[in-house]
Amino acid sequence: GDMAAMGEHREVLEAYRMFAHDRGWIRKIEEAIRNGLTAEAAVEKVQSDMRARMLRQTDPYLRERLHDLDDLAHRLIRELMGREHGPLASELPQDAIIVARNMGAAELLDYGRDRLRGLVLEEGGPTSHVAIVARALGIPTVGQVEDIVSMADGDDAIIVDGESGEVQLRPPPDVEEAYAEKVRFRARRQAQYRRLRNKPSITKDGVEITLQMNAGLLVDLPQMAEAGAAGVGLFRTELQFMVASSFPRKSEQQAQYKQVLDAAEGKPITFRSLDIGGDKVLPYLRSIQEENPAMGWRALRLGLDRPGLLRTQIRALLTAASERDLKLMFPMVATVDEFLAAKSLVERELKHLRRHGHAVPDDIRLGVMVEVPSLLFQMDELLTHVDFVSVGSNDLFQFFCAVDRGNTRVAERFDTLNLAFLRALKTIVDAANSAHVPVTLCGELAGRPLEAMALIGLGFRDLSMSPSSLGPVKAMLRSLDAGRLSARLLPRLEPGHPESDIRGFLSRFAEDMDVSL
Ligand code: PEP
Ligand code: MG
Repeated sequence: GDMAAMGEHREVLEAYRMFAHDRGWIRKIEEAIRNGLTAEAAVEKVQSDMRARMLRQTDPYLRERLHDLDDLAHRLIRELMGREHGPLASELPQDAIIVARNMGAAELLDYGRDRLRGLVLEEGGPTSHVAIVARALGIPTVGQVEDIVSMADGDDAIIVDGESGEVQLRPPPDVEEAYAEKVRFRARRQAQYRRLRNKPSITKDGVEITLQMNAGLLVDLPQMAEAGAAGVGLFRTELQFMVASSFPRKSEQQAQYKQVLDAAEGKPITFRSLDIGGDKVLPYLRSIQEENPAMGWRALRLGLDRPGLLRTQIRALLTAASERDLKLMFPMVATVDEFLAAKSLVERELKHLRRHGHAVPDDIRLGVMVEVPSLLFQMDELLTHVDFVSVGSNDLFQFFCAVDRGNTRVAERFDTLNLAFLRALKTIVDAANSAHVPVTLCGELAGRPLEAMALIGLGFRDLSMSPSSLGPVKAMLRSLDAGRLSARLLPRLEPGHPESDIRGFLSRFAEDMDVSL
């Protein structure tokens, strides 16, 4: 009875203690860490080595200890990942604001969105993935706030203004009142945006602009109708993988894609194949230490080297979109050949499905994200092969200007509207237009009214952004004379133009022309 259970319990604990204090075990873990593994991966490795030896054991006692060892290693891994104490969401008080040095996107998802009202980070630039995920969840987020962790106390009141990027710690009453007024003002503006929802997305001089939204989880889809998006221009499939506690099976992937397509009610969804690696780590996938993960083994590179993973995803997408249209694009393509390799994987899967009598999509469009600068010098070749391109301006900017998208120290230094980058964007849009290949831009640039205005001036006619940006961007473009802007902007990109402050020019233009920003 109870005593026996107690005894057993004690025995197990004893075994844990033994292993936990086993110098050999600890030494092996330390050694693995020194050899470059993360602590989690080190525990896993030592455990699996030990397990292999144990399996060859014939002694029943030792074999039984295998189970204990397994459990101990698992607990240790959970502890290392900070998951030991169960779901964090339940521990969060109502209206909580998280103040942290930095946080992974998956970690944020652990907290759930019910009680979380804001996020303040010492690191985390505006295009870091945690910021993107927070934005997608509608959680006001401010990054790059120096020393906030040491300044803030557990019960402090704090105001987080995600829009202006301001944080007020322990605000005095008049500041609090000023923000309350700001909130009321924004609510009125939101109501104004809602009224715009069903108005055409067309500039003052009659140029139609397609506004799509970025998404990554099924819960994002209702926002499509709420925000009046024409479709999903970027569906980040890795989010399903990031929120899962183990690798989503093909059937789970397929079910999600199908639900997403159902929820879209015929509006186009552009799926992006898995973009993991870099700063998007999966807790259950053994991560490899890389010096420069953003430029390392990530996204399509991983997909092509481990085709099983990509093939599974492609098959899930093909079956989920059977008898519908499928749009799929690949991230981090650096050469035309990489796209062709991905395309042939799709064709292989398609053939396989057909041969086995499965229904397949009516129409398949394959595209490439332009986010590695090398593609700028392969546009013509690339455009003969792809059905569409989508500029991932977050990564493109990071690599083009050599500025880490998550690094606070360099974020201020590089203007996203700098001359060289705008020229690069123009090269892309011009090349796509003359090849009659549809082109979108789906980075965070598209969601900022002034930047979106510049993009329209460059010739972009299709933008994809976080849902909350649709209203402001639509208000901007409906008050914009696109032809006039282009006529004034494009000469400034020519060599030899005396004025290089393009952001200043754009602000003045908006002001003079009454463009709503
Ligand atoms: C981008 O790089 O601009 C992009 C849209 O992809 P992600 O932000 O997911 O890297
Ligand atoms: Mg990217």
